[in-house]
Amino acid sequence: MPMTTRDKLEALAANLWWSWNPEALQLFERLNPEAFRVSHHNPLAALRAADPAMLNDRPFQKEVDRIYEAFQAYLNSPPRLENAPRTVYFCMEYGLHESLPFYAGGLGVLAGDHIKAASDLGIPMTAVGLFLREGYFRQRFDHSGWQLADYPAMDPLDHPMSLVHGPDGYPLVITVHLGRQPLYLRAWKLEVGRVPLYLLDASFDANPEPLRILTRRLYQGDRRIRLQQEIILGIGGVRLLRALEQDFDVYHMNEGHCSFVTLELLRERLASGDEREAAEAWVRQHCVFTTHTPVMAGHDRFDPGLLLEQMETFRHQLGLSETDLLAYGRVNPSDSTEAFNMTVLGLKMSRKSNGVSAINGLVARRQWHHLYPDRPVNEVPIGHITNGVHLPTWTVPHARPFLEQHLGDWLEGRFNLEIWKKVDDISDAELWQYRCMLRRRLVEFVNEYVKHQSLPQESHLNPDVLTIGFARRFATYKRAPLLFEDMERAIQLFTREDRPIQVIYSGKAHPADDGGKRFIQQIYEITQHPAFRGKVVFVEDYDMHIARMLVSGCDVWLNNPRRPLEASGTSGQKTAIHGGLNLSVLDGWWPEAYNGQNGWAFGREATGYYEDPVTQDVEDREALYRVLEYEVIPAFYERNGEGLPIRWLTRMRQAMRTIPARFNAVRMVREYVEQIYRPAEAPTPVTATIKNEK
Ligand SMILES: *Cc1c(COP(=O)(O)O)cnc(C)c1O
Repeated sequence: MPMTTRDKLEALAANLWWSWNPEALQLFERLNPEAFRVSHHNPLAALRAADPAMLNDRPFQKEVDRIYEAFQAYLNSPPRLENAPRTVYFCMEYGLHESLPFYAGGLGVLAGDHIKAASDLGIPMTAVGLFLREGYFRQRFDHSGWQLADYPAMDPLDHPMSLVHGPDGYPLVITVHLGRQPLYLRAWKLEVGRVPLYLLDASFDANPEPLRILTRRLYQGDRRIRLQQEIILGIGGVRLLRALEQDFDVYHMNEGHCSFVTLELLRERLASGDEREAAEAWVRQHCVFTTHTPVMAGHDRFDPGLLLEQMETFRHQLGLSETDLLAYGRVNPSDSTEAFNMTVLGLKMSRKSNGVSAINGLVARRQWHHLYPDRPVNEVPIGHITNGVHLPTWTVPHARPFLEQHLGDWLEGRFNLEIWKKVDDISDAELWQYRCMLRRRLVEFVNEYVKHQSLPQESHLNPDVLTIGFARRFATYKRAPLLFEDMERAIQLFTREDRPIQVIYSGKAHPADDGGKRFIQQIYEITQHPAFRGKVVFVEDYDMHIARMLVSGCDVWLNNPRRPLEASGTSGQKTAIHGGLNLSVLDGWWPEAYNGQNGWAFGREATGYYEDPVTQDVEDREALYRVLEYEVIPAFYERNGEGLPIRWLTRMRQAMRTIPARFNAVRMVREYVEQIYRPAEAPTPVTATIKNEK
């Protein structure tokens, strides 16, 4: 029987390939625009509510045929990298699409981009996470601008995921122990192109009610729940793979949340009869670890008493003494007061470790030097792979015709750096039209969106005005209100009638982070101030869709974290293909990308450390006002006889030529394969050093 249009749509809906193929998404949108919109662009929801007339429409059916064929061609395309090791990727959160809100921010978005690029490259990868059905949260506000959190639960049946069955044909159930209490886990499978993603789930009737909540929410609850979630992810994750009879060459732990993977692998080797030393060597040979967090307090640490309590049965299965178990997570195993640190566990039990930008690698080597007291700091075995973004996910649909017209097959260009040189051939007028079109689309979107949000906002954004964006998690180190810290200077900037500016903010604070919530409230108050009303706007409930709109439409992407606390940052990488310009302090990825012409840097040199944060705040905000007033704003409003801002366009061209070529996920995953996943023939020295290292 030939496949019907509905069959093909079902096959398309079942694979997250649509999340980076807007032509596929548009098919579903046409089936039922309203169902598509209210479900945060979920194809399955639109298909279930499909307009039958559309399904029977001949031209529509032809379009489905064409896109279905493209999808099949993608699945069957040959690998771009030969003999890549079989790799399983672990992460607590995944940012795949706005309809699947189990991500909090950059870490999850990076994980989503990583597995999508692995699929594009055709490398044999499987991914594991948790089915956090109440996800991160949906953001609302009370009348004072104080953030509130809603937790609508996802129904797995509404999403492209299926319950995993075991070889015996029954739904697969595996067991882990929390203390002595068994916890049963089932798993849901999502197809992300060619990469299967398994999400563990405790929320079903095999478990007593109080345990079912354990896989419900991301980064919430107390230390015990956090530890239990990490036991589920690390130990449960490996057990799931075994129940599926799957074996891997490389276990990639993305951040310390998944470090228990190493202990479960150790248990397997010990159970198979290895001596302890041989078992550890095997684990180290197979594990690699990525660290992201430059702040010591950001690394998961557990009180030894809590850890021993929760791992009681597991420790017996391992056959280790309490001290021996704790030693894996301690810098100094003989210090009985030292907490169990998940990053220490990951570092100790991995063959390779890396940070996520050159600076972050350097910071991590300093941060963990005490774990390797016999080596100089530049020989601490932590390298770096700089993050990159999955361009097909982050390029808005309405930017694509322009890119196709001028660059040809720009998606193919991710594999071929030559293509980005064609940016030089685009005329000033066309480039400016592109920028103005993207800005106008954003302004229309925001002016409409804020009418329906709980936080009252007057939005009079103007499509011709220099538009600055700031959107990311409202962690306090990211210093969202920096631009308004000197009110007088800020008012001056905003009241020049000949050179107006407007700023759009968006982002969520962690529900337990009152400092972050106060920052949002502060921004809210600024939006109500007469000098800024209508020109400074906060867009609520930040998600991947809002992110895509903002990074595409803003002329300037502002990034001003306290150094050196930004491991990489990726949102600025998403702007460049849209001709947006980064205005950023020299932290994370930016020092590697900034060449003096493809955006702006402000504040001290990357490695210029500050004795105290207040000095840094004051210096940075002064530097920010200066660069805005004397460089950014004049470059935007200085026009030639044809009304074109030539200096601005030169920078845009530089950004588009230099940034997407390097800071994309295909380059990143290739580097992971070549430098991290491929087993070393001989012990490798640390190759990653950057200039200023002492
Ligand atoms: C890209 C992205 C981030 C990461 O932003 P940073 O500026 O790197 O912190 C966070 N949240 C969402 C929704 C994103 O799309």
